Amino acid sequence: SLSDRLQGVFANLRGKGRLTEADINDAMRQIRLALLEADVNFKVVRDFVSAASARCMESEVLDSLTPAQNVVKVVLDELTRLLGEVNEGLGLSPNRVPNVIMLVGLQGSGKTTAAAKLAYLLKSQGRRPQLVACDVYRPAAADQLETLGGEVGVAVYRAPGTDPVAIARAGVQEAIDNLRDVVIVDTAGRLHVDDDMMAEAQGLKEAVEPDQILMVVDAMTGQDVVNVAAAFAERVDFDGVIMSKMDGDARGGGALSVRQATGKPIKFISSGERPDSLEAFHPDRMARRILGMGDVVSLIESAVKVQAEEEEQEAAERLAKADLTLNDFLDMNRQIRKMGGVSKLISALPGGDKALASGQVDEGALDHMEVIISSMTKAERSKPDLINGSRRARIAAGAGVTVTEVNQLMKRYAETRKMVKRMMPALDAPAKGKKGK
Ligand code: GDP
Ligand code: MG
Repeated sequence: SLSDRLQGVFANLRGKGRLTEADINDAMRQIRLALLEADVNFKVVRDFVSAASARCMESEVLDSLTPAQNVVKVVLDELTRLLGEVNEGLGLSPNRVPNVIMLVGLQGSGKTTAAAKLAYLLKSQGRRPQLVACDVYRPAAADQLETLGGEVGVAVYRAPGTDPVAIARAGVQEAIDNLRDVVIVDTAGRLHVDDDMMAEAQGLKEAVEPDQILMVVDAMTGQDVVNVAAAFAERVDFDGVIMSKMDGDARGGGALSVRQATGKPIKFISSGERPDSLEAFHPDRMARRILGMGDVVSLIESAVKVQAEEEEQEAAERLAKADLTLNDFLDMNRQIRKMGGVSKLISALPGGDKALASGQVDEGALDHMEVIISSMTKAERSKPDLINGSRRARIAAGAGVTVTEVNQLMKRYAETRKMVKRMMPALDAPAKGKKGK
């Protein structure tokens, strides 16, 4: 995968100590190939590599004491920039009720699914959404939206007839009558970009004047995303992108190309069948994931947040020293549980996708972890290096588990700790620079 390839390039650089221009050139060539193989648009790759190369050749990188780490940081920064730098937010209008969101995209891209997920997300934020089924070509399309709406407890407006504009208008009126504050209009796509689809989307746009038009793009689209997005941008224009099917085996090219190619932000990513699998898109986190650094940063962030004031201070100091105690580890894992369990989050951890694919995920492991860490003394938790063989036996007996299970936990902890250390140089200095256009 792209992550594996990039990690290989970096491992190679790290093995070298001091770097020459030739080393950088060689690394950049490999990065270029890895991106092309991941189906990133070739123009995007060209710009990316030339920007990254230029920065790597600067003396601050080449002459630094840790050139390889600096190269990783440059690539991380450039990837973050490529993905849009910051999360743009949904961007609804505070002064209009109801707000209208319209979803456009090719058939099968995931519009109907995304409509229901977005409704669910907005509802969980205290909004009162209304779904409107404007795909008039297949009766099954309205049924599908109705079913999904039912699952997330959001009303769906549907009506017979073949005029999507009339249905959209009536749907907005329905929302007004029922005091709903945001309308999500699901539209019909076509298998390919064509005039009918564009004309229909334009007609809907004029009729309901959406506050947000979101284009739904299947992450598997790869290179072609550039053409599809350009066609929509020209004919109906849109405000942002929902990348769907991020849970699939896409090579990542679409997500990396779309922002640069259209200038439009990715606002959400959708990754699965469950209604809560639509998340705000964070370029920096995605960049880390692509570099195989996992999304542990956000887990640590949230873990630190739930700690008491002084502990927070302490944890911050420890994090600055790039160390993770068993207490932090326990907090991280509690956080994982709060956020919906291992399966949902494992993909955020380095190597997580692989673990999930090979069925290594053990949902029960979190419970055990909690029991085991609870059987440790305070000193053991904050100085895990104390935990020798006889302490492990005592802890196992106290927790009612086997010593093997304690060993497994300590191994997992050690791996996470090592990874946090490895990530720290890049963490110290977050991506800077201007917001994209
Ligand atoms: P539409 O034609 O654009 O409305 O696309 P649909 O919402 O009907 O989705 C097409 C297919 O993709 C359906 O089988 C969905 O279940 C599936 N799908 C949509 N979003 C996702 C996703 O994020 N992950 C996965 N795995 N499947 C998805
Ligand atoms: Mg649909």
